[in-house]
Amino acid sequence: MTLPSHDWPELAPGWVWLCGAGPGDPGLLTLHALNALRQADVVVYDALVQEAILDWAPQAEHIYAGKRGGKPSPLQRDISLRLVALAREGKRVLRLKGGDPFVFGRGGEEAQTLVQNGIPIRIIPGISAGIGGLAYAGIPVTHRDVNQSVTFVTGHDQSGQTPSSLDWAAIAKGSQVIVIYMGMKHVAQISAALIAAGRPLSEPVAVVTTATTQDQQVLETTLGTIVDDIATSGLVPPAIICVGQAVLMRQVLDWQGQAAGTAPRNLDPLNRHRDAADSA
Ligand code: SAH
Repeated sequence: MTLPSHDWPELAPGWVWLCGAGPGDPGLLTLHALNALRQADVVVYDALVQEAILDWAPQAEHIYAGKRGGKPSPLQRDISLRLVALAREGKRVLRLKGGDPFVFGRGGEEAQTLVQNGIPIRIIPGISAGIGGLAYAGIPVTHRDVNQSVTFVTGHDQSGQTPSSLDWAAIAKGSQVIVIYMGMKHVAQISAALIAAGRPLSEPVAVVTTATTQDQQVLETTLGTIVDDIATSGLVPPAIICVGQAVLMRQVLDWQGQAAGTAPRNLDPLNRHRDAADSA
């Protein structure tokens, strides 16, 4: 595939480009990412980056920098310093991260270390799982009939606990739609906190695992039943959890299901246009 003609930037020796790979489907890469893959001497990639994407950089050395096979994940500082070292060797370094590098991906920390060490960088944003992954499940993160804001939160902090700095009650009260990254481990505490803060047990929730890949699975549930339903379904991370009425839109917008032959379950899941429909 040739890149369309454009003044594409050159990945020069000694530079590090910090690049989002999108949520999974290789087609969700940006053209800047593809341009980078073509030029890199070395690609340092994370666990959530699909192997198929690495095939687009056959000339490059591929270095894995994530958790695999039960081995402990490399320390963040070690990864950052490895990038510094590779750049100092004069390599064209592509640091490829799942989704968007600046969304819950520690891309900011890596970029900071690079700059502090005098390494020139470029940032290439990517499609984040909390937006693109939900879109593949037929869930719009905003919809005029549902929400004027959306909150992205992480389900665990640096210590692996539910983030104590998060005011779940304020989030429950202030955000119509809540998109939770890394939420599977603490889903019981998170759902309990949202319910305690007044969100109804019947609030729609979707859990989307390995979104945008061949293995994507979607569980539609509610705040009251999510813990049991996850246990019964056997779903495992990576997962995006979406809480709010936006989830109901999947009943009409599940485009993958429709392509596979299932009809929309409800063309007006929010009942906003019932009167108009009734009188039509
Ligand atoms: N920078 C990434 C997020 C990294 S944090 C982004 O912008 O998407 C890792 C978490 O992202 C996972 O635990 C999961 O919650 C979410 N995630 C990433 N890819 C995903 C996918 N394909 N399907 C579902 N969740 C995903």
